[in-house]
Amino acid sequence: MFKRVSGTKDILPDNVKLWQKLEEISRSIFALYNFKEIRPPLIEEAALFNRSLGESTEIVQKQMFLINNKVETYALRPEGTASIVRAYIENNLDKTYGFAKFYYMGAMFRLERPQKGRLRQFHHIGAEAIGSTDAGLDIEIISLADNLLRNFLIEGYKIKINSLGCVNDKMKLVEILRKQLNTKLDKLCDDCKNRFENNPLRILDCKNDDCKEVVRGLDIRDEYLCLDCKAHFDKVKEGLSMLKIGYEVSSHLVRGLDYYTGTVFEITHQDLGAQDAIGAGGRYNNLIEELGGNKSGAIGFAFGVERLLLLTKLKIQDTDKNLVYIITLGDKARKTGLNLLENLRKNNICADADYEGKSIKGAMRKANDEGAHFVLIIGDDEIAKDVINLKDMVSGEQKEIKTSDIIKELKC
Ligand SMILES: [Zn+2]
Ligand SMILES: [Zn+2]
Repeated sequence: MFKRVSGTKDILPDNVKLWQKLEEISRSIFALYNFKEIRPPLIEEAALFNRSLGESTEIVQKQMFLINNKVETYALRPEGTASIVRAYIENNLDKTYGFAKFYYMGAMFRLERPQKGRLRQFHHIGAEAIGSTDAGLDIEIISLADNLLRNFLIEGYKIKINSLGCVNDKMKLVEILRKQLNTKLDKLCDDCKNRFENNPLRILDCKNDDCKEVVRGLDIRDEYLCLDCKAHFDKVKEGLSMLKIGYEVSSHLVRGLDYYTGTVFEITHQDLGAQDAIGAGGRYNNLIEELGGNKSGAIGFAFGVERLLLLTKLKIQDTDKNLVYIITLGDKARKTGLNLLENLRKNNICADADYEGKSIKGAMRKANDEGAHFVLIIGDDEIAKDVINLKDMVSGEQKEIKTSDIIKELKC
């Protein structure tokens, strides 16, 4: 028997309802903020991710799902931002829209080690706003993330923010880190020893206890920020306070992807344990130019849907779908039943029938399991009298209805 690939999950119909609910809420909140849906493909040239996330990041080095054909190397997307920026540039949306706001939902893929409970196919709900460096947009994006979480009925999350500054500032920050870490290299894990050379910012994200201890001892202040970047960050903080969005500034929050500049943020929840991020985002003001577009600012974020599902207090009520279930006895009745089934659906009445050749008793049980409101029973007697036996499963009432009146009866 075949089994699903490790690190993947089947989302079965009962669970899908909660997914749909989250998606439905997301769509309505995104619409409130005038974000429009975009659906880029799930595969891209691998080089797109190497270029945007950075060659030295863990995702690019260890976690890409690569597909090699003879000519090119493709990758299943490990995240959404790079694809959307690629689509924005390739489709000339910078020229037709200029500033544009997008949202997306869908599967992402990373070659994680499934034994650690990590998924290789997981799902993001995210947003990207491209074409502006306005600090008001940083505030809008964080407000959007906050509003989504509140509407998902998730409580007790923390919004942490920081600023990496422009490319120059980021280089200064890296120097500050190198200077302070230089004397503590022997205490870092092997991965972090490599990161010290290639991408010291990533050390701040290391989950190793010894590394965490070293990181706690670092003294990082915002002095690496230039005047412009500091002023931008001040405006973001002021705006969030004005909107009464709770946040804390965390100088240790860096987001390890190369494309991040300026404001970065992360939303965490203690109920998630060691991997406590529900979602994260930030500015990527150089990525559009880096990927061949015009120089323009951008900011976005994404939530991990599987993590939202662990935290949401949303409940699914089985909506009263008024299902009509048809049970027939004998060949003649079967024909009448199939005809009626088609007719009900044409009249927008939700209908189903027994396809397993069950006994009346079995079919009634199935109708009950399916939550049917009405059951229609058709046998030789009913055919002879040109009636249908209608049972209301809620009231228990049973009556005969003239076949030609049945739609009218069920419609009201
Ligand atoms: Zn700066
Ligand atoms: Zn480490």
